Amino acid sequence: MRGLNACLGAAREGLGGIDLLVRPYDATDDPELWATAYRWAERAASAGLGLTVHVGEFATTSIAAALRVPGLRRIGHGTHVADDPQLLDDLARSGVTVECSLTCNVVLGSATGYQDHPIRRFVQRGIPVTLATDLPMHVCTTIGQEYAIASTLSFSPDDLLTFTRNAVAAAFTTSTRRAALLRELPPDLQPDQRQTGCKAPSGCLPDPVSSGRRNAAITWRAPSTPRGAIRIGMSRPAERYSASRC
Ligand SMILES: [Zn+2]
Repeated sequence: MRGLNACLGAAREGLGGIDLLVRPYDATDDPELWATAYRWAERAASAGLGLTVHVGEFATTSIAAALRVPGLRRIGHGTHVADDPQLLDDLARSGVTVECSLTCNVVLGSATGYQDHPIRRFVQRGIPVTLATDLPMHVCTTIGQEYAIASTLSFSPDDLLTFTRNAVAAAFTTSTRRAALLRELPPDLQPDQRQTGCKAPSGCLPDPVSSGRRNAAITWRAPSTPRGAIRIGMSRPAERYSASRC
C-alpha cells in the first residue's frame, strides 16, 4: 500500500504509469489476491496512471486474472498466452498491447528460442506488439538490438515501424504527447529505408536514448502474506518508446 500511495502522489508530479506483478509470479489466480490488485488498479487508473501487468512470462496460470485488471493497457511478456487458444482470443479481444522482450525471454527461458517466440502469432492475431528490453543490463541488450533481432525473424521494416507506432499508441502519456510522438515517425518508409538485414532501419527508432539505459523502475514489495504479494513499480517514461521495465 505504501508503494501504491507513493505512485498516486507521483502521478501529480508527472508519473505516467505503473507496473503490477502479483506474486507468486505467474502462479496464482487467487481471487482474493487479484481483487486487491484490481482495487489498486482502479485507484491508479482514476489518478490518471497507465497500467501494465507483468504476466505470462513462465506460465499461463495468472493470465486470465491479469486480463481482468481494470484499466489494463499493456502486459509485460505474455509469452505463454500463446499456449492457450482461449487466452490468445481473450488477449486479441482485449486490445491490450504486449511488450515483447525477445532477448530477455530467450535468456530467461520464457521462450525456447527466438524462432519459437510467439511474437509472430501475436501479430497474426492482430494483437498490438511492441519491442522492449525489460532488463537490458542483465541480458546484455539494447532496444536497437531488439529491433535488429526482430528483423532477423523476418519482420519487415514496415513491421518494425508498426511496432514503434504501437509503442507510442500504448505510451503512458497524454494524447497530445502521443500525437506529437507519432508525428516524429515517418508515415511510410522510403525505398532506401526498406533494406533488410540485421539492422533496424532508420525511422523505426526516432530516439536512441533508450538504448542501453539501465532499467529505471522503482519498485516496492508489499509485505508478503500467506497468499502472496503484489509488487508495484513506476513505469519507465513512455516517450522512451520501449515499453520495457521490470
Ligand atoms: Zn520482466
